Amino acid sequence: MTINSGADHGGFETLAIHAGQEPDPRTGAVVPPIYQVSTYKQDGVGGLRDGYEYSRSANPTRHALEECLAALEGGSRALAFASGLAAEDCLLRAVCAPGDHVVIPDDAYGGTFRLMARVFAEWGVSYRPVPISDVAAVRDALAERPARVLWAETPTNPLLSVADIGALADIAHQAGALLVVDNTFASPYLQQPLALGADAVVHSTTKYLGGHSDVVGGAVVVADQALGERLAFLQNATGAVAGPFDAWLTLRGVKTLAVRMDQHSRNAARVADMLTRHPAVLEVRYPGLPGHPGHEVAAKQMRDFGGMVSFRVRGGEEAAVAACGRTRLFTLGESLGGVESLVEHPARMTHASAAGSPLEVPDDLIRLSVGIETGEDLLEDLRQALAGL
Ligand SMILES: *Cc1c(COP(=O)(O)O)cnc(C)c1O
Repeated sequence: MTINSGADHGGFETLAIHAGQEPDPRTGAVVPPIYQVSTYKQDGVGGLRDGYEYSRSANPTRHALEECLAALEGGSRALAFASGLAAEDCLLRAVCAPGDHVVIPDDAYGGTFRLMARVFAEWGVSYRPVPISDVAAVRDALAERPARVLWAETPTNPLLSVADIGALADIAHQAGALLVVDNTFASPYLQQPLALGADAVVHSTTKYLGGHSDVVGGAVVVADQALGERLAFLQNATGAVAGPFDAWLTLRGVKTLAVRMDQHSRNAARVADMLTRHPAVLEVRYPGLPGHPGHEVAAKQMRDFGGMVSFRVRGGEEAAVAACGRTRLFTLGESLGGVESLVEHPARMTHASAAGSPLEVPDDLIRLSVGIETGEDLLEDLRQALAGL
C-alpha cells in the first residue's frame, strides 16, 4: 500500500506531522481523510486498489497512523488497535503459546497485570512479577525459569520506577526472551525502546499519543519484519482494530506530541519540586528528581522526564482521598496523558484490581497527570488542595 506514504525520514517533529500523511492524491487534502468505510470496489475480481479490500484487514486512515507510529518509534511495522489492552493481547498471543512463561514488572499497569493473571494464566501462560528496576533480580528470575517474554514498563504506573532498557534487552536476549516495553508513559518523543534493544513497544495511544482525552486506542511497534507480519495476521484474524475516526483523532494528536511533551515535562518538574518541599508530603516519585533511585538511568535513556508525578501524603488513605477531592483545576479521574491535568487515588481507582496482589500500591499515594496549563495555576491548585493535611 503506497497511498499516504509521506515523509519517511527527518527529525521527530517532522515525522510526527508528515510520516504516513502525504496530501490526499485525489484532492490534495492536507490531512489524511477519515475513510469511514467498510469495503472497497474491486476492479474485477481480486483487482484491489492499493491492496484495500475490507477495513478490518486494512483501512487508509488506520494505515496512515500505523506508518506514522512506526516512523516515530523507529520500527519496521506498527499496528493500531481499539485499545492499549487489545494491542497487548495481540502481542502476547503472537509470541506466547500455552506453557510459556512471562516476567512482568511488580508494579505493572493494573490492566496488564489483570490480563496476565486473569486471562493468559487461564490459557496456560504463566507469569511472575519481578522488580524490573533491579537488573540482578530480573536476571535471577530468568535463570530460575526461562521466559518467552520479559515485559517492562518504564517509567511504571503509578510508582514511576525506572528500568534500564538497554541492560534488560541484553539479559532478555541472553536468556532467549523477547523484551517488550510499554512506552505509554514516556511516549516515543521522550524514549525510543527499539533503539535501545527492545523487540517490541506497546502503547496505550489513549494517553500521550492521542493526548486530548477524546479517544481510546493502542499500538504495537516492532523492528523485526517477520514479527510484524505475524502481528498483522493476528490483528486481522482477531479483529480488535482501531476504527477510522479513532485512528484519525490519534493521528491529529500525534502531530503536536513533541511540544506537548516538552510542556508536560516542564510543568511536572515544577510540581515535583514544589511537592518535595511541602510539609504534607511524605515522598515524591518523579524520575527527574536527583534523589529518585532511577534518576541516572532515566537521564541516560530519556530526553526529559515526562508529565507523571506520584506522591504520598501524611495522614494515610483518608488524607489522600480527601486531597484528591479538593483540587479544582486538576480533574479527579482515571487515565492520563491529556492536555488537561488529572488527579487520582490509584489504590481505589486505577489499581483497585491489584489489591491483595504483589502489585498492590500504597493507599496514601496520589497520582498526577500534569497537563499543559499555566504552571503557576497548577502549583496554586495543589497548594490549596494540600493545605490543612
Ligand atoms: C492505560 C494504559 C494501558 C492500557 O491501555 P488502554 O488504552 O486503556 O487499553 C497500558 N499500559 C499503560 C502504562 C497504561 O497507562
